[in-house]
Amino acid sequence: MPVVSWFAPGRETGANQIVVLHASRVLDVATGRITAPGEVLVQGERIVSVGSSVAHPAGAEYIDLGDRTLLPGLIDAHVHLFLHPGDEADQSVRESVPQRTISAVLAAKADLVAGFTAERDMGTEGAGSADTAVRNAINAGLVPGPRLRISGNAVDIVGGHEDFTKDLGPQQQILPNATWANNASELVTVIRQQFKEGADFIKIYETGADSIVDGKFSTPFQFTEEEMRVAVQEAARVHRQVAVHATGEPGTLYAARAGVASIDHADQLSDETMRIMREKRIFAVPTFAISEYFADHTQGNDRAKRGLEFHALEFRRQLEAGVPIASGSDVGPFPHGTQAREFELLVKYGMTPLAAIQAGTMNAAELLRWSEQIGQLKAGFLADIVAVPGNPLTDISELTKVAFVMKGGVIYRRPKT
Ligand SMILES: [Zn+2]
Repeated sequence: MPVVSWFAPGRETGANQIVVLHASRVLDVATGRITAPGEVLVQGERIVSVGSSVAHPAGAEYIDLGDRTLLPGLIDAHVHLFLHPGDEADQSVRESVPQRTISAVLAAKADLVAGFTAERDMGTEGAGSADTAVRNAINAGLVPGPRLRISGNAVDIVGGHEDFTKDLGPQQQILPNATWANNASELVTVIRQQFKEGADFIKIYETGADSIVDGKFSTPFQFTEEEMRVAVQEAARVHRQVAVHATGEPGTLYAARAGVASIDHADQLSDETMRIMREKRIFAVPTFAISEYFADHTQGNDRAKRGLEFHALEFRRQLEAGVPIASGSDVGPFPHGTQAREFELLVKYGMTPLAAIQAGTMNAAELLRWSEQIGQLKAGFLADIVAVPGNPLTDISELTKVAFVMKGGVIYRRPKT
């Protein structure tokens, strides 16, 4: 599709525009090495070179970002562009899909200017495959937003985790906020339909309705191991992947054995599940930011608070077991553009600042299958670059103060001073 630029004047600046970014520091996220000062030479949509002093070709725009650190654009591996704060079921019932799509476009812009240059959208929650329109408009340069991997409407069982109609009278006929599949054959049908409608990967609710019973975590699985295998195989047939919402056993073990790409939320994993995740490089996506938000904003909800405490303890076990971690916030139910909070929580619960940054750059790029294009500042990579104040290796909260955002060589945010 050709780039149409009526609404995106930034795209008119020419494919070979040359920019030199200068800042007090540049961070190599793979090694943790800081180069000071730091410079990045960008031509068109790609990085040409990175170092303490790069070539300054004639005609290049020189941007001095002062006492800041340059690093790769942030990647959020678990977002919901089609959700905003407030009751989720209410959104899918009361808001039209066109209305929700407009909100999703605004959410995409909010995430981008907060520094998130790539994201994996984990389900439209009742807006069907409307996420394809958002992804395609961003790719065409019509609206600003992160690079997106999208999943359409996620897959669930009747009466399962995401079936809010289970709380209504059985006579109610309301469109669901997930797509139902109840056995292997229905999974294949639904997966083919979602790919036909434009999904990049499949999101399945493998467990649901977490609870704590007598001090113990409990959650039922929703698909058998064999059913999960069928889903993974069907996606692999067209070179695509499955990601699951899953916590607890045996659901996470079924998903890990079946070979999913990631286990999102990833709480209460057995040693065997963690071993398989390490061996197959299946990512855990902890989504602490949403848990904290619910713990803070749900009145009288001790369960949410205790759940977060359980997960924090569990996370240290996962780190010790060498489970690969990708950063994902589950933003949507809390305000878009605020999800860099996830990095602070990853550090609070046991990661080093460098490991947390890797989880939200190179690891997330690997999970999104873009590790040869984004996630690091390297010659030949796409110029997805942010600048934050100070040094994020000494203060992770700097990632919540992104001052400069470039995606594919186009600048979406510049510091005011
Ligand atoms: Zn989610």
